[in-house]
Formats: sequence, structure tokens, C-alpha cells
Amino acid sequence: MKNVDDIEIQKFEALAHRWWDPNSEFKPLHDINPLRVNYISKTTGLAEKEILDIGCGGGILAEALANHGAKVTAIDLAEASLSVAKIHLLESKLDIDYRFASAEETAEKDSQRYDIVTCLEMLEHVPDPASIVKACFSLAKPGGYVFFSTINRNPKSYLFAIVGAEYILNLLPKGTHDYSKFIKPSELAQWCRDVDLKLNDQIGMGYNPLTKRYFLQNNLDVNYIACYQKPQSAAELNL
Ligand code: SAH
Repeated sequence: MKNVDDIEIQKFEALAHRWWDPNSEFKPLHDINPLRVNYISKTTGLAEKEILDIGCGGGILAEALANHGAKVTAIDLAEASLSVAKIHLLESKLDIDYRFASAEETAEKDSQRYDIVTCLEMLEHVPDPASIVKACFSLAKPGGYVFFSTINRNPKSYLFAIVGAEYILNLLPKGTHDYSKFIKPSELAQWCRDVDLKLNDQIGMGYNPLTKRYFLQNNLDVNYIACYQKPQSAAELNL
């Protein structure tokens, strides 16, 4: 069984032509992009790093990573988003290897290949996030880094990420997120422990509706980024 929710993919396909419009439904991703790219860059450096970006959409993160000198491969299961991502390379003049592929099948082909695996704002859109975590472990080189970002699950995140972002501030289209698929840092940590990924650091992301600015913060109650590392001596799993 494929680890993909077709309804989720259809939602992203329907909006695909808007990926690079910074005032579109994807505005929050454009706005948080510098924060998360700096966070990754500070942790690992980016120049010459081999990176796999899982759930790349139109390539907002992939292009920023490539701009910092990384060699980026990027995968998604939404054809329309990948087309937009490829067309955008004509404008940005960057070189990114975009592929229509799942994390799991890429892990079978490219195991232990990447210095860095990024899987941002994606886990909460798949039926079996633990399977993606397992694939990320396999894809990373020994000593490599895996970055996840997602949304915590508690009454405050319901209020901020769904009621606030989708219904009051209209930052995201209604129905973008399903509360039951939000992921507690402890749940992500358990899936990572199961495959021997070690927690390196995690950080929250906040939004100030008055200044309309995002910022990094210690509080993980709503949006957060987690950085895990594969041990140098990790044995390979049988995927
Ligand atoms: N990672 C990007 C986009 C996040 S939106 C960013 O943070 O800027 C979530 C993306 O995950 C969408 O592009 C969607 O098509 C993709 N996606 C959803 N399910 C997927 C799956 N099973 N495999 C790969 N990509 C998936």
C-alpha cells in the first residue's frame, strides 16, 4: 500500500500554479523560508552538501537550499507541483533534480546517500508518518542530519493553527490541516528512536499577527522544527 493520501495530493495539485506567488495560499511557507533555511544552515552548513527534500511542492525550500550551494534532489507525489518547480528553474537558473517519487521508494534506491534530508511541513499530510521517518533514516549518510517540521497536537495548536490561521487570519485555505494528523514532538521522537535517529535540537516557530512576522522561539506548542542525526556507526535497516 502506498503511503500517500490522494485527497491531500489533489489539494496541492489544485493550487500548484500559485506556488511561487508570495501572496498566495503559500505565503506562510515563503515567509518562514528564510528562518528555516538559516536554522538548517547554522546547524550543518549547506555548501556542497547532498540534500534530499521530501515533499518539495513547487520548490520553495529546495531552491533556497540550492542557492546556498547545496546539491539538491527533491521529491513529491503531486505532478503539477513538480512541473511548476521545474519551470521555475528556468527563471532561477538553479540546478535541482526534481523527481516524482515517494520517500520509501527513494530510500530503496538511494540509501545512505544524503548529508541532509529535509521533510518540512509534510509529515502531517501522510497516512503513515513513521514510515517516512524510517525512510529518512535510511536515506541519510551515517552522521547525516534529518530535519522535520510539523505542527504539535494540543488545544493551543488547534486554536492557533486551525481556528487562527484558517478561519480568523485567513493565512491558509480552510481545510489545509486536519487536527488529528498533527504530531506531538514526543510522537516524532518515538518514531525516530525506533529507527535510531538521535535528537540534536528542536525549535518552535511563532507568528505575530500584528507585525505579520514569523520568528523562532523555544516554545514548541504549535509549529516546530526538529533536527535529528543518524549515528556515525548506524547499521542499515532493511526497508
Ligand atoms: N516541504 C515544502 C512543501 C510543504 S506542503 C515546504 O515546506 O515548503 C506539503 C507537500 O507534501 C506538498 O507539496 C504535497 O504534495 C507533498 N506530499 C504530500 N504527501 C506526500 C507523499 N506521500 N510523498 C511526497 N510528497 C507528499
